[in-house]
Amino acid sequence: MTTAIPALYFDGRTSRAHHVTLSVESGIAVIDGDAQRSCPLAELHVSERVHHGPRKVTFPDDAYLEIRDTQAFDALLAATGHRDSAVVRMQQSWRGALAAFAATAIVLVLAYLYGLPLAAEAIAKVLPASTEQAISRGMLSFLDRRLLAPSKLPPARQAAIVAHFKSLVAPQAGAPDYTIVFRKSRIGPNAFALPSGEIVLTDELIALMDNDEQIAGILAHELGHLHERHLMRRVVQSSAIGAAATAIFGDASAIVANIPTLLLDMKYSRDAEREADDYAIAMMKKNGIPLTQLVGGFEKLQKAAGNGDEISPYLSSHPPTDERIAHIENAR
Ligand SMILES: [Zn+2]
Repeated sequence: MTTAIPALYFDGRTSRAHHVTLSVESGIAVIDGDAQRSCPLAELHVSERVHHGPRKVTFPDDAYLEIRDTQAFDALLAATGHRDSAVVRMQQSWRGALAAFAATAIVLVLAYLYGLPLAAEAIAKVLPASTEQAISRGMLSFLDRRLLAPSKLPPARQAAIVAHFKSLVAPQAGAPDYTIVFRKSRIGPNAFALPSGEIVLTDELIALMDNDEQIAGILAHELGHLHERHLMRRVVQSSAIGAAATAIFGDASAIVANIPTLLLDMKYSRDAEREADDYAIAMMKKNGIPLTQLVGGFEKLQKAAGNGDEISPYLSSHPPTDERIAHIENAR
């Protein structure tokens, strides 16, 4: 049984507020105090979180609870693992997924004024996989048309890189799903993870690295971005307008149309880079790979960028390298 939290109960017919407490016991919400009743969690509807507003929990007969202690309520929801039944039902269909996304878009527009990064993080976590896949397909086809070409790497070499990295990921608990996608690049050595889990790895990056452990270090960093859903957060954050259009037109093309700008101006925050590096550090340590390999890979990328006139797309999207190398060296 969870701790009881204070709430106001309205019976849905009169405006009288009853002072009650709400607690949860084996999947049943228990109301006690000036009014008493119980109801399975699955039959309750929990309102969306709103800024500074009370949360509302509605019963099937339109009676409802108003909860002002939203922190305690969030803790209670987390403790019970409760998910709004309507949300669960909606996520089971693609149409529903789009509708969920539409609702998300509205929340997003509202959230814009209050705290976009936080909202983006929450939304990126609840977006249905089908939306992530649609967005990722759009990204990859855009890149294939403009910046990438089929890999010239022999299939056996590709298979060896895939197998080596797979053996390193195996001991990681809760590692995200991923697929390594090999491409030749018109933008030099690069590696990046798309929201659906494809990690694009260019022939040029593979050629630049001294050994497979350095390649694995770069891939581990990208897996770290996937683990934290960094790109999806960025997409959500930059797509408020696209998301609203999606709600109206019913497909993801509006978001996909926004992707080129996003990809060309992709820059992870220092915090995101630190998180991805920490993920890679943990993975290297767990597999007994010296962190010098991780540092070595990033240094190679930095040196390669120093030779050309153009700014390396890899370094511009994963800044700032000196600070990161120092951080990895301190983690030894
Ligand atoms: Zn990065």
